Amino acid sequence: MSRRRGTLALCAAALCAAALLPVTGCERQPPARGFTVAYEEPAAADRGSARALRERRVVESAATELNGYLDLPYEVTLLGRSCAGEGSGYDPGARLIELCYEDLTEQRELFETAGRRPAEEEAAAVMTETVFHEAGHALADALDLRFDADRAEEDAADAFAALMLIREGPPGERTLLTAARAYELAAAHPDPDPGPDPGPDEHAPPAARAAAHLCRLHAASPARHPAAPTAQPCPDTWTRALTPLLRRPHRGSA
Ligand SMILES: [Zn+2]
Repeated sequence: MSRRRGTLALCAAALCAAALLPVTGCERQPPARGFTVAYEEPAAADRGSARALRERRVVESAATELNGYLDLPYEVTLLGRSCAGEGSGYDPGARLIELCYEDLTEQRELFETAGRRPAEEEAAAVMTETVFHEAGHALADALDLRFDADRAEEDAADAFAALMLIREGPPGERTLLTAARAYELAAAHPDPDPGPDPGPDEHAPPAARAAAHLCRLHAASPARHPAAPTAQPCPDTWTRALTPLLRRPHRGSA
């Protein structure tokens, strides 16, 4: 997964050497930091989803939100790609978040199965939540946060996704509601063909993830989300943990 970035770095160094540029010409570039966006060519079956992801600027918008809120001391690449069966995830060695075009297809089909057509908007909303979830893993890595169990880190990544969306106010809350709905649908319609056994799932069951998101929405705005949550409490893992990376003084509201 790191090969792509390594190649680019090598090319940049070779260009400087080949052109015999003054060393300062190469050094003038500040080191990249923050969340950046890149795409790989999709597999043929993923072309439609790849195009939809780019046209809707799902990843770019999420990166802008992340970089406006947090000052990450190094670069983490958000990479859209075909994942050939592997789900979206964060690779700490490569500082790379892989966002699978297939996930968009899967989410669109999930909503369509439930009678929602077209479901492009819903699929894009779930991808936004996925970007923030994976960014939560990247931040846990950047902050060297320790968790008692893999499940605890997954719960924290979900909590970070919720935090980022709730920060946006009603539009972000609607995105989070859609993500919660996707988890409810996943619980009601388990994948009949999950592929090769990926081993034990580190995430909470989909119904629990949905309930936790709804709990966070209720806690953030009981007026807009009056339904009593079935999951309680929904602790905030991040308010203090993020402090070293915050761009602006934090007043404890997020
Ligand atoms: Zn995760």
